[in-house]
Amino acid sequence: MGKTGEESGPSPGGRLTPAMAQYQSIKAQYPGTILLFHIGDFYETFGRDAETISRELDITLTSRSRDGEGNRIPLAGVPCHAVDGYIARLLAKGYRVAVCDQVENSRDAKGLVNREVVRVITPGTAIDESMLSSPAAQYVMGVLPGEKSNVGLAFLDITTGEFFCIPASLDPAGHDLLTFVFRYHPRECVIPASEVRRLEPLLGNRVVLTPLEDSACERQAGEDLLREHFGVSDLSDLGIGEDRLLLGAAAMVLGYAKETQKAGLSHIRTLSVKNPGAHLIMDAITLRNLEILEGVRSGGVEGTLFSTMDQSVTPMGRRMLRDWIALPLADVDAINRRLDAVEYLARDSLLRAELRGLLKQCSDVERIGGRIAYGNAGPRDLRALAGTLALLPEIRATLRQSGEKEPSAVSEASRLLVECGDIVDLIGSAIVDDPPAVARNGGMIRSGFDATLDSYRQATVSGKEWIAALQQKERERTGIKSLKIGYNSVFGYYIEVTRSNLHLVPEEYTRKQTTSGGERYVLPELTEKEAQIAHAEERLLALEIALYQRLIETLKGRMEEFCSVARGSALLDVYAALAESSAKYGYCRPELDESQEILIREGRHPVVERSLRGHFVPNDARIDSRDEQILIITGANMAGKSTYMRSIALIVVMAQTGSFVPASYARIGMVDRIFTRVGAFDDLASGQSTFMVEMLELANILNNVTPRSLAVLDEIGRGTSTLDGYCIARAVLEFLHGKGSRGARTLFATHFHELVGVEEELSRVRNYHFAVRDTGSEVIFLRKIIPGATDRSYGIHVAALAGVPEKVTQRAEALMKEQVSGGGGGGPGVKRYTQMLLVDSPLPEPRTDPLIEELKIIDPDSLSPREALQRLYDLREALKKRGER
Ligand code: ADP
Ligand code: MG
Repeated sequence: MGKTGEESGPSPGGRLTPAMAQYQSIKAQYPGTILLFHIGDFYETFGRDAETISRELDITLTSRSRDGEGNRIPLAGVPCHAVDGYIARLLAKGYRVAVCDQVENSRDAKGLVNREVVRVITPGTAIDESMLSSPAAQYVMGVLPGEKSNVGLAFLDITTGEFFCIPASLDPAGHDLLTFVFRYHPRECVIPASEVRRLEPLLGNRVVLTPLEDSACERQAGEDLLREHFGVSDLSDLGIGEDRLLLGAAAMVLGYAKETQKAGLSHIRTLSVKNPGAHLIMDAITLRNLEILEGVRSGGVEGTLFSTMDQSVTPMGRRMLRDWIALPLADVDAINRRLDAVEYLARDSLLRAELRGLLKQCSDVERIGGRIAYGNAGPRDLRALAGTLALLPEIRATLRQSGEKEPSAVSEASRLLVECGDIVDLIGSAIVDDPPAVARNGGMIRSGFDATLDSYRQATVSGKEWIAALQQKERERTGIKSLKIGYNSVFGYYIEVTRSNLHLVPEEYTRKQTTSGGERYVLPELTEKEAQIAHAEERLLALEIALYQRLIETLKGRMEEFCSVARGSALLDVYAALAESSAKYGYCRPELDESQEILIREGRHPVVERSLRGHFVPNDARIDSRDEQILIITGANMAGKSTYMRSIALIVVMAQTGSFVPASYARIGMVDRIFTRVGAFDDLASGQSTFMVEMLELANILNNVTPRSLAVLDEIGRGTSTLDGYCIARAVLEFLHGKGSRGARTLFATHFHELVGVEEELSRVRNYHFAVRDTGSEVIFLRKIIPGATDRSYGIHVAALAGVPEKVTQRAEALMKEQVSGGGGGGPGVKRYTQMLLVDSPLPEPRTDPLIEELKIIDPDSLSPREALQRLYDLREALKKRGER
């Protein structure tokens, strides 16, 4: 490849054309980037870049003999006017692109035209609307490993200015890192070059990695950058503490954004830190297993909790809701504040409909703000901004007019909607009603906005009128009725005469061009006027663009208000969206407390119930670290075990997000983490055996679970021999149960029927199973969970249902009978393994219900009617507190 001279730079012996020499010196400054080099009407690429884009974009590869030794250099180019679309496609494939423009007019240049890289566009820092693939957030992630296993993470969405950091840990499998990659879907990840070897294997196939030279990650420079950007003298003023790693990661990302944008990023106004302790954490595996944001099979958003809950009507609301669902809260008061707002809007359907109707008309102010800060906002962006700002008074008035006192979360959001009436007026007076998409060609400034502009415009108009008059005059003078004055970019204005009239052409006409139908002529006065018109148009365009720029500068100064408006409308949109789904699907407001209980009455699976259209069978659940800590759930294949366990986990996620939940009653004791292990997935892509994956995931759970966690284990131990699997499942149960009085709330579905015996030995384990009606000839799934264990698995019935030939099912039936009679009641092996008890005392604790106890000691004969009635009320009240009706 060195032969082309592209990578090695101009070779001393070779003679390069000046343009190629310029190309190579610029190319050398942007390693790892495709350089688009502006030549005439094209952006050209050379050498390896040309090969890449021809392959990726399906563009013809040509070549020119331009290098010093006469070798041919591959060449591929795209037309300038379509370049954004090509760049977008390259970004989607993970490439970085540098755009090198002619920065002087080729007419003014003496010799070689000056060229400069005017922007570098990378998957995580694209900001042009045409290059953004979706309204979802577009993060660049920064990863800065510390000395021990801690690591600082920072996330920046330059399209909206959202900027935050998170402390994390760097375990050998990269679990924690992957969790964040999964949660936020960064388009690009910047890392110190010295960490490539360690981080590439963990992240390389999940996200585009961009190594930064170590100088860019240097501490002092990074801290200076942050101080300067946020205008603080002391970094602690940022309010995120003085965690060096977090600040370092933030500085890396911000520095990278500045470097690539080569423009102001004034819309990035705050840096926050997300503290893991305040949130319900779901790792990557759980987000996937529970299909919170992405479907397991589709990889898309359909069938996910997010898509089910998403009734938002603005892009900023949608981004915020996704954020909330990906990282719910773990603080009772904070969640209740959200729930108060949701309940307020859920109750008042008129207010909700009005509010949503108004929000629907709001544009993506967050992103428009980003483009204003960056300097590439188009005239339509400004009109959209003005249109949204103009709605704010109405939105606030709508919220005020409701008679009830609004909850604090609603008034806070409403206060964020700062009314910028002056900006609405300014944009309204400056920009025409239906402006062009880009400012480049003018036509966006309204008449009456600027007197000078109006006079220039008048000049071009009168120039054109003059031409029209000339055409009329010449027709009369020559008697050629079809004489026409036309214009093209090569000759300028010309007089066109058709062949049949050529004999009438006067002498002073100068012939310029022969066409198929006739001849084209010019006149000295026409040429003169043409120059005047061209001049006036140039002045007009220049002034229009200058006025537009001035307007953008004014708007840049108001960025703080726009950010506030964006946040306020996002919040209102999310509250209203959650209220909408609650009303639409019959959800109830959950109660939240600090207990370690989860109590659900008539809970449903929010996604499955929608596909079953009213045929979903609701189920209760009670899990409590103190007594019913571990539920072992058995039942036939297809009985509904997995659906049941997920519905509980999803209800917890929804509740802690601040949403109502699909149940008739729910009380949730705060959950700090949800872990899941679902046996059915085959992680073939990673090349590890299913069993290995299962054990890795299990290790992650067991090492990180806390007494406040919720663990959902679906058929663990499936990927190995029955004996192994049973032992592992059993040992895991014992581990989770622990010795003390508390442990993680656990849902444990299993096909190892032997495990139901554990209930007798571990005090806080309860057996449940799914009811089945067995008529002898057929099995009906009732989808109802009931206490106790099943004795049969009905696998053979399911096989028959599925159409497995009768010969096979009959034989299986016979074998089954042999087994049961040979192995004794609980199946083979049970007795042997009861000895494997590892941690807990085998004595079951007596179970008592305090209410039953109270009932037992009531002596009705000794009570007055009034006292009896009071006792009855008390008992009912106590029952209600437990969530029973
Ligand atoms: P299992 O894990 O016991 O094999 P699943 O939970 O996968 O069973 O459920 C199997 C199917 O049964 C699901 O696809 C769903 O359509 C249906 N199902 C599950 N639970 C319910 C329910 N509560 N009400 C109605 N249908 C249900
Ligand atoms: Mg299942």
